[in-house]
Amino acid sequence: MTALTPIFSQAEICTAQEFINQSNNVVILTHMSPDGDAMGSSLAMRHFLEAQGKHVSVIVPNAFPDFLAWLPKADEDIIYESRRAEADVLLDQADLVICTDFNEPKRIGSLGDKLLTLTCRKMMIDHHLHPADFPDLTLSYPSSPSTCELIYRLICELQRSDLPSTGVADLQRSDLTNIATCIYTGMMTDTGNFSFNSNYPEMYQIVSELVALGVNKDAIYNRVFNAYSADRMRLMGYCLYQKMRIFPERHTALIYLSRKELYRFNFQSGDAEGIVNLPLQIKDIHYSCFMREDKVNPTEVALANGSKTKIKISLRSQGNRPVNVFAKDIFGGGGHANASGGEYYGPLPEAVQLFMDNYTQYFDKE
Ligand code: 5GP
Ligand code: MN
Repeated sequence: MTALTPIFSQAEICTAQEFINQSNNVVILTHMSPDGDAMGSSLAMRHFLEAQGKHVSVIVPNAFPDFLAWLPKADEDIIYESRRAEADVLLDQADLVICTDFNEPKRIGSLGDKLLTLTCRKMMIDHHLHPADFPDLTLSYPSSPSTCELIYRLICELQRSDLPSTGVADLQRSDLTNIATCIYTGMMTDTGNFSFNSNYPEMYQIVSELVALGVNKDAIYNRVFNAYSADRMRLMGYCLYQKMRIFPERHTALIYLSRKELYRFNFQSGDAEGIVNLPLQIKDIHYSCFMREDKVNPTEVALANGSKTKIKISLRSQGNRPVNVFAKDIFGGGGHANASGGEYYGPLPEAVQLFMDNYTQYFDKE
């Protein structure tokens, strides 16, 4: 097999190796409302480090969706919202904290405040723009479609024989299959099953290597994408039939849902995932926005400025039509060029009005 093009510098690899070699208690953190890449990257790292005898915990800010619960050892993830005291002890005892798939403490809610009090070494491995500067080692590659792909590349680099051993060569087949399964899941979900950000040969070399390591890609697809509840399917139908507004002159679609509407469809965490992508299946729709009304949780009261509602905004686009500037300017958010988001503390109609007042200045006519 040809080696992958190196992307990390020699210094980065050596530092990562040193950090791993010199630590025994490792905590891995990933972002709020964990998706496939967040779960995959944190768990792949966990399996990799455990195979070297490290004591490793994964802490997630809040619950992960059911369609990811089958990932190896996902059931051992500690959910900060419900097991905070236990998680704080693990963080206080950690000699290394690894942050995967997020770029700033804000993206992990109140867990971020705790993270910033820790004096142990911190390492970030991520693909979002503008990483915050708290880590001792930052492996930030926004051009990578997924953090999972970065984890794969890192593990491959750490195996090179000219470096002092991390013990990778001793990985058992079952460890390798678990690592590969987690990595494949994140690569698949962050590219919409290889339908965007996925047009370069090395991605398929990696997929080929993962399948050779025992990944069952068809089974993973089924578990992740064919796992909707009837309520969720009906919610999607409702969005498309009754709620989708189209603005043809800017090739734009907008869908928004109040809490009352979510309640009607017995909304569960994760049910809104992917709704924002649906309008992009329409010919000539290049921009899509989805807004969902949420409650302000106790950790966000300071941000909320008296508002009881938080609007979660998701933006998607196709091709060379960035939506992250709009997300940042209008909703104080950010993200990738084609997949961004933000939040608005206030009533849903206000967020919709903000969108209506501004989208024509940011979205192209072509
Ligand atoms: P999603 O629509 O799936 O919630 O978010 C898509 C992407 O937008 C995320 O991967 C993240 O990069 C970015 N994003 C979503 N919400 C926020 C936010 O509130 N702030 C920032 N800076 N980025 C966000
Ligand atoms: Mn990601």
